[in-house]
Amino acid sequence: MISRTLREIEKMVNGSGLEVKDKDKDNHIIGVSTDTRTTANGNLFIPLVGENFDGHKFVSTAIDKGAKAIIWSRKVPNPPLDIPVIYVDDTLTALQDLAENYLEQVNPKVVGITGSNGKTTTKDMVAAVLETTYKIHKTNGNYNNHIGLPLTILSMDEETEIVILEMGMSGKGEIELLSNIAKPDVAVITNIGEAHLLDLGSREAIAEAKLEIVNGLKSEGILIYHGDEPLLQERVPTKTQKTITFGNSTENDYFATSITQKVKGTTFQIAEETYSLPVLGKHNIQNALAAYAVARHYHVKTADIKKGFQQLKVTGMRLELQQTSSGISIINDAYNASPSSMRAAINLLEDLDGFNKKIVVLGDMLELGKDEKNYHFEIGKAIDPGKITYVLTYGQLGAEIAEGAKQVISEEFVRHFEDKEALVNTLKSLTHTGDVVLVKASRGMKLEDVVNSMM
Ligand code: ATP
Ligand code: MG
Repeated sequence: MISRTLREIEKMVNGSGLEVKDKDKDNHIIGVSTDTRTTANGNLFIPLVGENFDGHKFVSTAIDKGAKAIIWSRKVPNPPLDIPVIYVDDTLTALQDLAENYLEQVNPKVVGITGSNGKTTTKDMVAAVLETTYKIHKTNGNYNNHIGLPLTILSMDEETEIVILEMGMSGKGEIELLSNIAKPDVAVITNIGEAHLLDLGSREAIAEAKLEIVNGLKSEGILIYHGDEPLLQERVPTKTQKTITFGNSTENDYFATSITQKVKGTTFQIAEETYSLPVLGKHNIQNALAAYAVARHYHVKTADIKKGFQQLKVTGMRLELQQTSSGISIINDAYNASPSSMRAAINLLEDLDGFNKKIVVLGDMLELGKDEKNYHFEIGKAIDPGKITYVLTYGQLGAEIAEGAKQVISEEFVRHFEDKEALVNTLKSLTHTGDVVLVKASRGMKLEDVVNSMM
């Protein structure tokens, strides 16, 4: 992680020189914290100001926990006197400037990953294949926004050769900001879904927002994107010199063949070499293709790519396979949901062989805007009645999934619940050894409660 004197930090954030007393200039900080819950000894504390909080109020806690210096907004009165202070006009900008400068000094190769779905998974896959060959650093968990991305950069070691950064957004302009801080050598767009329709209005607008990643791309940089998505294909900015595509279609630079999915994971071929992944879901093959493209770009050997994929550990609740003591398989995908990821997960369950009953437990997909009911209805209607035995739904919008499902499945196999306990009781009575249950909804629905009750 970052380790600098205050003199160096002051230059990096353009703080006015006056406020760090000369005697403090050679003081050293190690690591940056914006949250006193995780402040560690030696940290530089940067208080951020949000709608409902002001980090400046917590500076004394940060000092108690070992912060050795702080950044302070000139707009805020009464700075603490017993600790070195660097004054700035805006503490968030200071955090971002500091990260941008630190990244320039360390100068690793930068891989930036955006897209509607699969960013975290792809980031974990890219890291898994690159770390066989390089010293890497990657976004921890889902730290992918205007605060998480700078913090990720600042937690990187000086020896880092490649840094892999997830870039999330909820509106226009956000990816551009992140990309201008990160200046990727490789920009990846996993796909375009319906996520964030609420803020952006259309899939076209989403594609444009994701393509903002090109704005910060280095002039020699390369754009890797899902080639089956015409909205991307049509809009790739002319300044992009080099592009690589992946996808289902054989017209892409990289595509997979001979795909098989078993309970233990997925195998597939790229260019006649066989790879296996310890995760399920055809969408994960798309994520793996993106990771493969990055690995090839950095000349990782085939054997190392295979090893990387095999050793992959994905961040939890993303198609995580769990077994109850009574032999019921549960696919926990309660981390999040959008229409495209919901469909992908249901398709996966439909395609899995070797189970008795297949049951879906589906809840609300949030933040979909005015057509939200229809999106839910369509999910229900698209369920294959020959492959899924029961459809259990939860939540206000979940009710629409049930309505859609009733168009194709006989009503006795579709149940709606407004109460998780009742849902769990029904689920327990319906399931036996050899059955498989998919659990999926938006994060806010906390459907992992259902999984935990089943375990
Ligand atoms: P967030 O916006 O929350 O950061 P993310 O883009 O990082 O999400 P992941 O956390 O990797 O996405 O995956 C979330 C869910 O999206 C997965 O559980 C899976 O159901 C689905 N998903 C993952 N990859 C894809 C893909 N390539 N296409 C469609 N759905 C996908
Ligand atoms: Mg993510």
